[in-house]
Amino acid sequence: MARNKHRKLEIYEPKRCWVGEQHKICYDSLEEAEMAARVAEYDHHVKGLTVYKCDYGDHYHLSSN
Ligand SMILES: [Zn+2]
Repeated sequence: MARNKHRKLEIYEPKRCWVGEQHKICYDSLEEAEMAARVAEYDHHVKGLTVYKCDYGDHYHLSSN
């Protein structure tokens, strides 16, 4: 795994975890994940995003399948 350069960024850095081959953003709540899905649909015209509970932690991810 490549080591990230740790710079002090002012932007919000979301938590992520590995799910299979993907490095996915973690959402603390179902509401937060659903909101992110709506934003992605609106901003990036991504269709059919679903929210699911992570198998590895107490948080949620978005799935594009
Ligand atoms: Zn996770």
